[in-house]
Amino acid sequence: MIIDVERYALLKLKLLAAALVFSIAAVSAQELHDKIFFENSLMDGNYYYSQAEYRGTSWLKNVQGKLPVAETAFTPGNSLELNYKSSEEGFWSAAIQYHELRGRDAFKEADDLSFWIYLDGAIPSDALPLVSLSLSESFKFESVKLADYISNASPKTWTRVRIPLSALFKERNKDIAKVEAVIFSQGTAFKNEVRLLIDQVEFVPGASIMMALEKVPQLTSAKGYEQHVDVTWQKETNSFVKYIKIYRSLNGKDFIPVGIQYPQLSGYTDFTGPQSAPVSYKLTYIDQNYHETNFSEVMSANTHAMTDDELLDMIQQSNFRYYWDGCEPNSGLALENIPGRTTMIATGASGFGIMAIITAAKRGFISREQAVERFLRITDFLSKADRFHGVFPHFLDGTTGKVVPFFGNRDNGGDLVETSFLMQGLLAARQYFNGKDTNETQIRNTITKLWNEVEWDWYRRTKDSDFLFWHWSPDQAWVINHKLIGWNETMITYFLAIASPTHSVPASMYYSGWASQSAEAAIYRANWGQTTDGASYINGNTYHGIELPVGVSNGGPLFFVHYSFLGLNPHQFNDKYVNYFENNKRIAEINLRYCIENPLKHKGYGGDFWGLTASDGVSYYTADEPNVKGDKGKLTATGALASFPYTPEASMQALKNYYRTYGKYLYGYYGFRDAIDLDNNWCSPIYMGLNQAPITVMIENYRSNLLWDLFMANPEVQGAVKKISSVR
Ligand code: CA
Repeated sequence: MIIDVERYALLKLKLLAAALVFSIAAVSAQELHDKIFFENSLMDGNYYYSQAEYRGTSWLKNVQGKLPVAETAFTPGNSLELNYKSSEEGFWSAAIQYHELRGRDAFKEADDLSFWIYLDGAIPSDALPLVSLSLSESFKFESVKLADYISNASPKTWTRVRIPLSALFKERNKDIAKVEAVIFSQGTAFKNEVRLLIDQVEFVPGASIMMALEKVPQLTSAKGYEQHVDVTWQKETNSFVKYIKIYRSLNGKDFIPVGIQYPQLSGYTDFTGPQSAPVSYKLTYIDQNYHETNFSEVMSANTHAMTDDELLDMIQQSNFRYYWDGCEPNSGLALENIPGRTTMIATGASGFGIMAIITAAKRGFISREQAVERFLRITDFLSKADRFHGVFPHFLDGTTGKVVPFFGNRDNGGDLVETSFLMQGLLAARQYFNGKDTNETQIRNTITKLWNEVEWDWYRRTKDSDFLFWHWSPDQAWVINHKLIGWNETMITYFLAIASPTHSVPASMYYSGWASQSAEAAIYRANWGQTTDGASYINGNTYHGIELPVGVSNGGPLFFVHYSFLGLNPHQFNDKYVNYFENNKRIAEINLRYCIENPLKHKGYGGDFWGLTASDGVSYYTADEPNVKGDKGKLTATGALASFPYTPEASMQALKNYYRTYGKYLYGYYGFRDAIDLDNNWCSPIYMGLNQAPITVMIENYRSNLLWDLFMANPEVQGAVKKISSVR
């Protein structure tokens, strides 16, 4: 029977239950990260991952139950405000909660809780709060007096506080992974209101005596756009560098710190809004002990008005960078998310990224030679990496090429859907690199070898099976037991399985599997959509005035009309029910009209702010849909922008609004961060491998048909189109 487990499996990539998944996978993690509770809030106003409470005649300033965000900062751009009144007949407490970044699930050994405080005026030590930790498994903790750990805090300066974890844990065994929040709470009653700021709350190793860094950052460029300036620098690999700190001047003389960046990135996007004069930048390094180096040289740039075409170039280029300088360096392939694990490659996202890199070469963001060098690295790595009957796993370790069972021990083998996303990109690349020289010939030959070795037919499980299966494990075989049934993102999997020159499945499986009319398939679809609409593949209902020929529910999340169609040109693909450009366009239009109607009255939704699809959320990743059950109140730029071929005008309106109105939260060096939820005043801190490239690639298909033309030029692809259309 198809139960929630099955639904979960479909969402497997989409990590329904992040907490559960990560607890399973944590054992395989090798990378160690700092456990940081607060660095900066992406949003103004209040900090989503906090909780502020008071009772009686005590008081704690809050914005909708959360701590206010203050502009004065130790690490720019902001800090958290603790403004309180401690009364005999009352109590207040403020929790700064830990929010796990996907994949950042193993932590460095730590000795101290460290944070920085800024006192608004002279405050008697008695008036300072208590500090404690909140643990996931018990509420046994020690409260310590903040005053005991401050020796000399002058007003109006930032002072570091270190509290040994041994003072904060009741049990001798400290397990920092279990700490869910750092709590500031009322100490002694005091007659006046007190205001102080807190910043950069984290667990750190004990004080070290590392030498301060001598070298300074090397700025390499400053480039202005309509609303922002991108500054870039030479990538720094010294692990003693904690942050790059960015300073800006609007008059060329007075510089203020505006942001910090992780050394994993070699650029920063500074949202200035339109400026009439040049904007200047300089940088410093902040080391692990918070020593700051001297300044780099200064570079300046001008913001300027931009045409629609220039805006498209800009958005395509920034999202492409995720796969270029944001790649896993050994393989040249895409990470699952950034920030996240720095060595774990996601194979499907890499396939999307491959098409973004081709776009970049075609548009001149990089040279063809640079693209060739990259694809030699990619294809060499892939030909040596783990495969299971020719099928790649969902996740690979970029340093070893071995499978990473990130979603749990059962997922330690081949993933046919991820492999189809990867092959879609590689087949487009095989057509793009058409040069006669050795390098381009080698790229083509390696891709052909990888393509020919994918045993699509093995993933049929039995010779007469109607369905393809998502996974196979070398030691647990078909244990996940997930049949591929459309409508969803797996059309490309059936398509390529039928197209294979060496291990193909019969074209009849398009109808017996993907578009199956069996009772089992109907139950599967009904479970997915939580409705019988579209349960027999064809739909036929009208939503928001638009008739939908094919699709579950009222069309599902928008990635259904993106992932399979980055290469597969829907204009050229018909089955006995519909033409898929027409069908996809309707799914995008239903999504748009739902957001215009906005029945749940979410903030911001409208004709220029729409795009419900799968993305990161306040608690975990969800696949959002345009209906009241599936609309979680968060929007994703890739939803609207990867729909450019279907809804060009509404997608352009969304591009401008996402960039101009919300860019200061959402838009960064790798393009748009994954999602934004205005009701909760929340913006995702991560860029997602699955979501950046579809923006670049689908805008390119809208502008020039490039990836569609390349992918469709493969003779095997043309063959599959013919084979499927001959089955009736
Ligand atoms: Ca800060």
